[in-house]
Amino acid sequence: MAGMVYLVGAGPGDHRLLTLKGRDCLAQADVVVYDRLVDPRELQWAPAGAEFVYVGKAASNHTMPQPEISQLLVDKAKEGKTVVRLKGGDPYVFGRGGEEGLLLRENGIDFEVVPGITSAVAVPSYAGIPVTHRAVATSFAVITGHEDPTKEASQLKWDKLATGVDTLIFLMGLSNLPYITQQLIANGRPADTPAAVIRWGTRTNQRVLVTTVGTAAADVEKAGLKPPAIFIVGEVVKYRDQLDWFDRQAQRPLFGHTVLVTRARAQASRLSQTLENMGARVIELPAITIAPPSDDYEALDAAIDRIDDFHWLVFTSVNGVEQFFARMEQHGLDTRALGYARVAAIGRATAGALQRYGIKADLVPDEYRAETLAEALQGQLPPHAKVLLARAEKAREVLPEKLRACGAEVMVAPAYATQAAELDEAARQEVAQQIEAGDIDIVTFTSSSTVENLIKLLGIEPLQTKGLLKACIGPITADKLRSFELEPDITAAEYTIDGLVNALKSYLQHQA
Ligand code: SAH
Repeated sequence: MAGMVYLVGAGPGDHRLLTLKGRDCLAQADVVVYDRLVDPRELQWAPAGAEFVYVGKAASNHTMPQPEISQLLVDKAKEGKTVVRLKGGDPYVFGRGGEEGLLLRENGIDFEVVPGITSAVAVPSYAGIPVTHRAVATSFAVITGHEDPTKEASQLKWDKLATGVDTLIFLMGLSNLPYITQQLIANGRPADTPAAVIRWGTRTNQRVLVTTVGTAAADVEKAGLKPPAIFIVGEVVKYRDQLDWFDRQAQRPLFGHTVLVTRARAQASRLSQTLENMGARVIELPAITIAPPSDDYEALDAAIDRIDDFHWLVFTSVNGVEQFFARMEQHGLDTRALGYARVAAIGRATAGALQRYGIKADLVPDEYRAETLAEALQGQLPPHAKVLLARAEKAREVLPEKLRACGAEVMVAPAYATQAAELDEAARQEVAQQIEAGDIDIVTFTSSSTVENLIKLLGIEPLQTKGLLKACIGPITADKLRSFELEPDITAAEYTIDGLVNALKSYLQHQA
């Protein structure tokens, strides 16, 4: 049976501007065919085992010609696969989605279009420019700045466009700017009309150059701006002064900073997202990967077999919760099997993970620390309490020791092991160079093991770079860093992701 093709708009850049429907399609994909303007972070929503085909497409450097891309969609669908063709912006706005659709139809293959947020509108928004505004612009046009070079005469009706539409938005026009602006002026648009060039809009490396039609070409040349960029012309550009929000310092205190986030892949995203919301560029390094414990779940399986016996189940990490329930599922069990056992979580994130399995934690201490959790539990344990602690294989023994000291029978069941992720040499050097050059200026540590693993990954030298800010989630992580003779600049007072981000924010504000 033939498969199905979804032509999905990936949105303009910021990966969270993908639609919910687009994300659902990705989740079902066997094959994802994507190009240069797609933020690779959107690929996380496809199954890890899917086939990913990059078809490139820098302005003059087509990695795969369009007819081959269209044919690829046909071929994969004929193999019975569910194919997602993920394209920057909207598939039907200069996205050649129509051509792909036609070939699919010709071959009798079903397809659906999932519209995306087009860069034509969203990129100006992020630059503080509304494409229409009652007082000054009641129409806008989206125009290719890069007509097919094999065409003899221009298809564009410059005489009508230049003065007939209030806001003009050119895509793919950067290298053609001298020609475009000259046509506009020759056809009656005043040379002093406000204009702007926006590069990598909606991303944290967005750049905005405000100019006029007459000076745009020279200004772009001087600034050395390269594609991808949008050229927007019209009175609406003036509103940027008042409506700019994305790169405003007050709202986005981390703008201009690049943060290295070292954490297990699955968990890095919340920290990254919070940092990005504050304007930072984030580079995620998977310092840790999650692996099965070295006893291959023997202890955890034994615990699950007698899960009824426990008075308390104690979780000290999101991973612990997730791996525990994954194992329960292997046993054909779900939340109901936990019966009357009470449940403790070390902090809010862990409690949140439990909530996703329908469990409201009975105990969450105010402070995210094993010691605090032990103290809070001590008061609540029945005599001869049986406690199950599902946690990382390698962890401090404080918690089980303290609980045993007050008479509890504690079963420690490793639910996962953390392993240092591997980084190939080229990737290692690239990150090291970025740190040494000051391009990465902040590094975060969210646990003692991220300290150890990052040092294993990168070596100690890059971390000794002067001016590199080292931010730790709490005092234990900070001490671990000191054990390598690296002095933390920031240690959060509240040992959570939010606490870490707030500490970073106030540090930077004090410096400014
Ligand atoms: N289908 C896409 C457009 C594809 S044409 C859409 O709807 O957005 C590619 C052009 O889009 C680029 O040359 C550039 O002009 C523009 N573009 C796409 N994403 C952009 C971004 N994040 N910042 C600036 N321009 C962008």
